[in-house]
Amino acid sequence: MEIFRSLGIEDEVRAAGAPARTVSRTAWYTSFDGPTELHGRQIAARDAWGGGSYAEEYAAMSPSSYTMLAQIRLEPILRRAAEERPEADIRFDSPVTAVAQDEDGVSITVGPTADGTVRHIRATYVIGADGGRFIADELGIPMSGESDLVDMVSAHFSADLGGVVPDNGCLINWFVNPDLGGSIGSGYLYHLGPWDEQGRSAEWLFACGFGPDDPERFDEEEMKRRIVRSLGVEGLDATVHSISHWYINAVVADRFRSGRCFLVGDAAHRVPPWGALGLNTGIQDAHNLAWKIAAALRSPELASLLETYETERRPIATTVAENSLHNFTNHGGLVDKAIGLDPAAPASTGWEMFADLWSESGSGLERRRALADAIEFMDHEFHAHGVECGFAYPRGAIAGDGPERALPVDPLVYRPTSAPGHHVPHVWLHGGAGRVSTLDLADGGRLALVVAPEGADGWREAVASAVASDVAPLAALVDVVVVGDDRLADPEGEWERLREVGPRGAVLVRPDTFVAWRSMDMPEDPGRELELALEVVLAADLQLVDATTGAGVS
Ligand SMILES: Cc1cc2nc3c(=O)[nH]c(=O)nc-3n(C[C@H](O)[C@H](O)[C@H](O)COP(=O)(O)OP(=O)(O)OC[C@H]3O[C@@H](n4cnc5c(N)ncnc54)[C@H](O)[C@@H]3O)c2cc1C
Repeated sequence: MEIFRSLGIEDEVRAAGAPARTVSRTAWYTSFDGPTELHGRQIAARDAWGGGSYAEEYAAMSPSSYTMLAQIRLEPILRRAAEERPEADIRFDSPVTAVAQDEDGVSITVGPTADGTVRHIRATYVIGADGGRFIADELGIPMSGESDLVDMVSAHFSADLGGVVPDNGCLINWFVNPDLGGSIGSGYLYHLGPWDEQGRSAEWLFACGFGPDDPERFDEEEMKRRIVRSLGVEGLDATVHSISHWYINAVVADRFRSGRCFLVGDAAHRVPPWGALGLNTGIQDAHNLAWKIAAALRSPELASLLETYETERRPIATTVAENSLHNFTNHGGLVDKAIGLDPAAPASTGWEMFADLWSESGSGLERRRALADAIEFMDHEFHAHGVECGFAYPRGAIAGDGPERALPVDPLVYRPTSAPGHHVPHVWLHGGAGRVSTLDLADGGRLALVVAPEGADGWREAVASAVASDVAPLAALVDVVVVGDDRLADPEGEWERLREVGPRGAVLVRPDTFVAWRSMDMPEDPGRELELALEVVLAADLQLVDATTGAGVS
């Protein structure tokens, strides 16, 4: 949403998304209804996705709120926004079938299309964003990790579930039914909108796991029966719009770049959706790469920035893949285990475990305690602020400040810091035209050197001197932005509190809102210091090769 903000489509995406009050919780049920008193029971519920008790924490950390919008509704917005750019030429029915590169560029073959046309395109750079269908193989880049763990089948359907769904504030309802094989087999249900005044949705998505060799997994009628059984609602009138199969993978490309070609999104990493970070991570890849390609196209001297794309994004993708895989295994595993469900045991034993869970027995109390722990542990999936927003680039197009430039150690906590490699802390400032976030300061492919009025003159001179030096192409992209004067006020002194640098210091923010460098105070020769920092930003990722062993030396 922060990236959509920078593209000017945040409001449109939020307006199309689920009303905030319908996505603040998640809950587990045996079913919504059924023949015994153990059916239709809520097993647990908790706040999630920056809603409920987390609302204040998330609102303080970002100008943008968590938003839930189905990808089929997001993509038309992105398409329209792209088509409004005069420089864009967007084509459909254009399958790329071959990519060959040389020192000067890339030759791409498109087609044959439906009408048999084959076209050839010559490009300076190529961004492979094909969801993992073609480009990585074509470039000879292998994927590493765990693949094809479970065949998940999703049904997008319309149904009136108004009197059936117990809580319209829940985005995802998870079913744990011993008759259906516990968590993965029982599946989950979430709403896709459109929503009425009461937050009731007209369309839904139901997904559950099938054995990879189950012949019924492609059968629409069987999927309808699954929905009826999981929800426990006989005679449900559902119109299925589509059924899709997706495999649970946690794989990351061994390289994100081959010469002039780059992998982004699912072409570079495919992660289980438990944690909801797949597309988020993909959009962040594109955001990280776009300003670097734009800079390289503007000045060939800036092409070294492109080396930092893989250095910065691959470790993040690996962390997201690992976390999402843990979320997937823990999600069903911990809840089922806490209740005492064993997939190998008969279903009747599973129902006995549920009966005990809600009894006054000592073992029931133990089960409830274990369940509460399991649900709390799911902070890793539903409240993982550190993974979502606190990740940092330890190496790449950044300079200076050592120890804190590490990946986050706590996946649950986002601690704002202006240390290089981190997402710049969000603070609301007051500008002439209204509220401005510190995330809005570096705009249009330019870097912002954020300073206080006390250091403004010194840093302006520093930029002027860097523009006259060897790092001129990068220095020319730097704007000095003064925070704390009448034009951009910090009325609560919050930026002063969070910026971590002194009143004569400076924080250099990249166009993708990550900190490139900071100076804690005004150095003796600020021009020289800035110049050195920009040199490191441009060359930080240079790999020197040991002449004897051939091994890379950073
Ligand atoms: C059930 C489920 C729930 C999810 N929930 C979330 C969530 O809540 N949050 C989140 O962030 N992520 C989520 N994800 C992940 C998200 O869907 C993916 O990460 C995302 O779709 C990847 O986007 P992409 O553009 O990289 O690839 P895709 O969406 O796969 O798009 C690739 C495009 O490339 C085109 N293409 C393919 N081959 C070629 C070719 N040779 N030439 C030209 N074009 C080609 C395709 O037609 C397609 O249009 C979820 C995934 C699933 C399965």
